[in-house]
Amino acid sequence: MSTGRVYKVSGPLVVAEGMAGSKIYDVVRVSESRLIGEIVRVDGDRAAIQVYEETAGIGVGEPVYPSYEPLSVELGPGLIGSIYDGIQRPLDALAVLSGDFIVRGVEAAALDRNRLWKFVPRRRKGEFVRGGDSLGVVQETPLVEHHVMVPPAVEGEIVDISEQEVTVDTPIAYLRTATGEQPVKMVQRWPVRQPRPVRRRLTPDSLLVTGQRVIDTFFPLAKGGTGCVPGPFGSGKTVIQHQLAKWCEADIIVFVGCGERGNEMTDVLQEFPELKDPKTGEPLMKRTVLVANTSNMPVAAREASVYTAMTIAEYYRDMGYSVALQADSTSRWAEAMREMSGRLEEMPGEEGYPAYLAARVAEFYERAGRVVCLGTHPGEGETEGSLTVIGAVSPPGGDLNDPVVQATLRAVKVFWSLEDRLAFQRHFPAISWLNSYSLYRDELSADLQKRAGEDFSGWSRKALEILRREAELIEVVRLVGQDALAPSDRLLLMTGRSLREDFLHQNAFHPEDTWTSLPKQAGMLGLILEFHRLAELALQRGATVEKISTLPCRQELGRVRYVPERDFARH
Ligand code: ADP
Repeated sequence: MSTGRVYKVSGPLVVAEGMAGSKIYDVVRVSESRLIGEIVRVDGDRAAIQVYEETAGIGVGEPVYPSYEPLSVELGPGLIGSIYDGIQRPLDALAVLSGDFIVRGVEAAALDRNRLWKFVPRRRKGEFVRGGDSLGVVQETPLVEHHVMVPPAVEGEIVDISEQEVTVDTPIAYLRTATGEQPVKMVQRWPVRQPRPVRRRLTPDSLLVTGQRVIDTFFPLAKGGTGCVPGPFGSGKTVIQHQLAKWCEADIIVFVGCGERGNEMTDVLQEFPELKDPKTGEPLMKRTVLVANTSNMPVAAREASVYTAMTIAEYYRDMGYSVALQADSTSRWAEAMREMSGRLEEMPGEEGYPAYLAARVAEFYERAGRVVCLGTHPGEGETEGSLTVIGAVSPPGGDLNDPVVQATLRAVKVFWSLEDRLAFQRHFPAISWLNSYSLYRDELSADLQKRAGEDFSGWSRKALEILRREAELIEVVRLVGQDALAPSDRLLLMTGRSLREDFLHQNAFHPEDTWTSLPKQAGMLGLILEFHRLAELALQRGATVEKISTLPCRQELGRVRYVPERDFARH
């Protein structure tokens, strides 16, 4: 192995010479401190290296050690519940909070090498298995059964497999492959920038229920779909993220945090471990993996962190799980790209972002999807998994024309426009019903019909129409006053308000209101629209809007959201 030499240092960018044989995205170690970096450009025997640790003190002429391997993550039991940095070094959350950071260049195993796991085989000697096939399971946490899968490119006949309590490094099975006998361990590695293979991609046509009414009813996300949410400060972004993590129909949550200010990440590291899984009462961390960029790591590490998180998420998808990846904030990731691109002296595109920004963002979201997994579970046919990706963006000044937001909107199919204006009015969740959209509504219509009833899609469209008309009328009222409106318009204003206050408002901290099943969402919406229909009839027969607005049943509409699910179903 030849060793390169540092030729130039520019912040997180190190240029080394004598690097012949290394490829783009290979991992290298810089200097005797063995700082971890990834090659981002190769030019003859010179390599530009993005270094994931502070480069202060590194000088020209210091050695650079190639590994000839791409940046990879370790996959296996023990991922769940872990908190990692951008290159999958386990973070002791407490150490981070108290300000003790990882020493530069340390190599920490991502998976505990001493921990014993009980492997229970689900296949027998003599069976032929292919890449992705589940050999057996490990109870990783009370909430997650971990499938130990044959690595993607391997296949062969099982010559040995047994129940045992072993570490991730001990073979749990041996396969006879075309190239000889091969052990299979519980740990495997995968290069982060390469999507893990699947057998087939499927149309995302089933709803990812979140229990959040504005989302499920108006701007639904599909299992395996993609969504984006901007988060101006104080708009309730954290609450939304926690609600999604707790309630969305995902078995596994992977959360990647690219914070800018140190305390943003501290909040995530403090709050996430305290969340409870509402269905089981267990800590949510028992089905969660956190990837956090700490503030002592240079911005370049954010680049790696989103891929690290994505690869871990794909790994659980491959077991047949519904996985949700939440990334906050992808704008910080893009800023890291911009910084590296500047140092590489690439031709800048819009606002200094590299010209390949949109392509990178699109590639990232393309790793989402509903799929037929590469392998199968024993005795079962095809296994289906899904990976839903929800990215938060934080454009400077909330400007949605920002290049990162624009690139993201081209790549994702759902946009939840979280607006600080609404939060200011205490309208929570502060997702705008006027500016948000979901492009999954057509694909989901059959599933919605099955799960929420035949009328649901029509009601949802009708309610949105009323809300849009309400917004127009509010403008008119602002100019000429309420009295100038026809009674039918005044009635519409009343229904619009009811839709906002009795349906869209949802208190995350109220035990009943925090989550609403799809049938109850349909029921609530149906009630409001039925009231509107009857009120229109009453108007035609001479009733006044004032009279209608004081009907006692109108007050009751406002209380429906607090009716427990059980009682609601009975009525
Ligand atoms: P951000 O992360 O955008 O700064 P938070 O998520 O912390 O904002 O929300 C700020 C405050 O808004 C919360 O402390 C809470 O009082 C209120 N809030 C946000 N969403 C909801 C909700 N769905 N229900 C009730 N209150 C909410």
